Amino acid sequence: MRRYLPPVLLLVLSTPLVAQRAQDSDERAALLQRIESRREAYATVAKQIWGFAEVGFQEHKSSALLQQQLRTAGFQLKSGVADIPTAFVATFGSGKPVIAIIGEFDALPGLSQEAQTAAHHAIEDNGAGHGCGHNLLGTGALAAAIAVKEWLASSGHSGTLRYYGTPAEEGGSGKVYMVRAGLFSDVDAVVTWHPGDRNEASPTSSTANITGKFRFRGVAAHAAAAPDRGRSALDAVEAMDNMVNMMREHVPQETRIHYIITRGGAAPNVVPDFAEVYYYARQPNMKILDGVWERIVNAAKGAALGTGTTMELEVTGAVYNVLPNDYLSGVMNKNLERVGGFSYTPEEAKFAEEIRKTLTDPPDVAVGSQEQVRPMRSGAVNSSSTDLADVSWNVPTVSLTAATFAPGVPAHSWQATACAGGTIGVKGMMVAAKSMALTTLDLFTDPVHIQKAKTEFDQKRGPDFKYATRLADRKPALDYRK
Ligand SMILES: [Zn+2]
Repeated sequence: MRRYLPPVLLLVLSTPLVAQRAQDSDERAALLQRIESRREAYATVAKQIWGFAEVGFQEHKSSALLQQQLRTAGFQLKSGVADIPTAFVATFGSGKPVIAIIGEFDALPGLSQEAQTAAHHAIEDNGAGHGCGHNLLGTGALAAAIAVKEWLASSGHSGTLRYYGTPAEEGGSGKVYMVRAGLFSDVDAVVTWHPGDRNEASPTSSTANITGKFRFRGVAAHAAAAPDRGRSALDAVEAMDNMVNMMREHVPQETRIHYIITRGGAAPNVVPDFAEVYYYARQPNMKILDGVWERIVNAAKGAALGTGTTMELEVTGAVYNVLPNDYLSGVMNKNLERVGGFSYTPEEAKFAEEIRKTLTDPPDVAVGSQEQVRPMRSGAVNSSSTDLADVSWNVPTVSLTAATFAPGVPAHSWQATACAGGTIGVKGMMVAAKSMALTTLDLFTDPVHIQKAKTEFDQKRGPDFKYATRLADRKPALDYRK
């Protein structure tokens, strides 16, 4: 039942609320304006990191550039955290809540490619390239963090904002070591994004992933004159690969297993006394993955036994599957819809159409789809993996995807490198920066968001969940790209 209130009293009651709303919308508009006004500066930072194209744990210039930007903006820097020279945490403000924005900046080996060019042309043969757009990822996160910091400073709002510079996302499990070092233990929520070919803020999961190098040692001998005296380490690799390839039929459907032979001998006329194969195994469920990985290790042991060689295993990486937070995704989605997609110039549209012709299959999304925001869907699981997953099992985490790649262009391709170094990459990055900044502002201003995110987080983890990385106490594999 609603009581009658005299009109004058109604006006008095509603005025502060109206004023508050107007102030909120002013603050949000100012936040977006701040990011937009520095578009060129952020485009330059993103292009510099794209040019550095540094692979996992070797991102010295990229990390230094981001740190310098944050220091200039008034953040306190702590670098070389978690025994990783290129990892850092930048902090502004104090007290609760503690909100973290995550930035990545590592490139991928072999994906060197000229920017915004629709023909495959490497800048450096076999050089590294930003085929996952992490140059945009780190810079978009930077843009969001600086805008929110300025709002915190001018509004006098309490709370701590952090930017986490997280190296070696691509197979190096950089964030896992940072989680293990306790760097996220007081964080209330994590906000981040990832480049892609669409604008979307759905709560998606990913596959858990264990990676390792299997090293076999045998006996060298003349391959023609004395093969009976040799024991081939390459035979062991091939025997192992054969067993694992047969195993594919007998693992759950969603499992992914891939390998490369990193060392296979030096000359055909010498029986190889050393060979190495580098494996990834992935599964949406960490416990099932543990079982699959054990069987892969058994195949390696069996191969060594059968070929008269010895085997040693170095586990180089291990990440969980992402624990999505539907509630936080809803908050992010609202902000992404407010920011919206973007249009291409005629030149950009032409480039997008041209580069799409170089894909193996015609894409099922059209040029122009980057103008839209995809509707939210739940329950989706990406087959790829990310070390963000280990953060997500420790802190409620939200991520969005922005259309930095031409529609249909997959990540980890030369086409993605071409997009990540060009103007459409920057346009997508700006969508992400603005959506993340608005979401971070929401988390600072309304404690209900963090409460609801935490309730869902606790329910999904369950009372018995105990986080334990499969990397145990190993030191960061700082040389995994060497
Ligand atoms: Zn990536």
